[in-house]
Amino acid sequence: MKSVNPYTNKLNKEYTNHQKNEINNILNEVDLAFHDWKKTPFETRKQLMHQLGNQLELQKEELADLIVSEMGKIKKEAIGEIQKCAWVCKYYADNAEQFLQNEIIQTENFESYVSFQPLGTVLTVMPWNFPFWQVFRFLAPALMAGNTGVLKHASNVPGCAMVIEKLVKKAGFPKNVFRTLLISGSEVKQVIENPLVKAVTLTGSTPAGKSVASVAGSVLKKSVLELGGSDPYLILEDADIKEAAKLCVSSRLLNAGQSCIGAKRFIVMEKVYEAFKDEFVRLMESSKYGNPNDEEIAIGPLARIDLRDELHQQVMSSVGKGAKVLCGAYIPDGESAFYPPTVLENVQPGMAAYHEELFGPVASLFKVKSVEEGIKIANDTVFGLGAGVFTKDKEKGRHLAEKGLDAGCVFVNDFVKSDPRLPFGGVKESGYGRELSLWGIREFVNIKTVVIK
Ligand code: NAP
Repeated sequence: MKSVNPYTNKLNKEYTNHQKNEINNILNEVDLAFHDWKKTPFETRKQLMHQLGNQLELQKEELADLIVSEMGKIKKEAIGEIQKCAWVCKYYADNAEQFLQNEIIQTENFESYVSFQPLGTVLTVMPWNFPFWQVFRFLAPALMAGNTGVLKHASNVPGCAMVIEKLVKKAGFPKNVFRTLLISGSEVKQVIENPLVKAVTLTGSTPAGKSVASVAGSVLKKSVLELGGSDPYLILEDADIKEAAKLCVSSRLLNAGQSCIGAKRFIVMEKVYEAFKDEFVRLMESSKYGNPNDEEIAIGPLARIDLRDELHQQVMSSVGKGAKVLCGAYIPDGESAFYPPTVLENVQPGMAAYHEELFGPVASLFKVKSVEEGIKIANDTVFGLGAGVFTKDKEKGRHLAEKGLDAGCVFVNDFVKSDPRLPFGGVKESGYGRELSLWGIREFVNIKTVVIK
């Protein structure tokens, strides 16, 4: 397994994959750890989880450097990612016990209630785009619920994967409650099928999600899937156009556009289309790419050269079918995996930019005559992760968010962000199940009915 810096295109470090016997040993050790961990009182779990949050804060500079070197995001975003991980640790440390308290249900019996019991070892298969945040938003609720975890991280961030295991240990958690498996995607099947693994969650692309779901289904194990998105944003006539363009560009360029909930399609009312387009393109063009450690730049390289080249192909195949380039759409010279902020218009059905997820700094603009036409285009996708509406009419925004847009999360007058306090997840081919909040911690528990007559 190779960790390559996408800015310098130089090897950071090579890692040796775990062999079959090592995988089995790790699963055995984690299963053994579960039998003690599940009996650990909430107070102890809480202290350890707080300690983990503190540890993240203490090491945020060096952890951010590791993220930058393995997947290229800009340093200040990497620091923000570590701080968010500390937040989710503290959030679940403080709230897990209450989220998992028995719930009394009135019946004719002496007592009836629901009790939430851990399942055992949960496998988490994670992507490289937020190499700490994606893991911690699983890890914090899973461990607080009394489960143990094994991580199969993306193959290009093995350094992050190993450091996360070390951090959990350093925070004082018992040995083996959370371990990393250095394995490839093709070895995930055998791990899901292992009887010691009780459930699986994957954050990643839709094809990987389908593969994991079918294996989990074949052995009847619970799965949660957080998959891709092509998030639409409706810009209504009464929106604050400058503010909308600013927020839409921020969302599109966050993490160099490699975010599942990045705003990707901008559907603008005809009357304000030109004004929005001018401001949007101006902001995209003036956002500089460069050294991720440089404070002045807006985006670093994409995570890998092959991913950058794939994105460019999606752009050029759309251009070949009639999409118009307003800015960007070229591969810069040099060794880095850079892709410039790119804006397309005249995007039509049949084009990659219309149907597929464009996982980089590429935006598609659509001009529509009515809100109904806008909603139709917004929902004309296999994805259903996030969506947004910009309007000064909050009631109209609320109505479109609740009833109009087919997505797991809709924000009005802002872009979609994950937040430990709010459930996060999608519908359609963006996956199923929820992470974060009370909903997330209840995904990997036995929701046990107890009746006493
Ligand atoms: P990916 O290629 O699907 O990889 C994600 C993880 O799945 C990696 O650990 C990968 O391992 C593994 N994997 C790949 N194919 C697999 C298979 N057939 N069976 C089991 N595991 C498999 O996705 P990515 O390129 O890393 O991440 C980008 C995608 O993730 C985008 O589509 C993005 O929208 C999505 N994402 C979704 C969310 C969300 O919350 N909904 C959040 C972030 C990202 P290898 O690296 O070894 O191949």
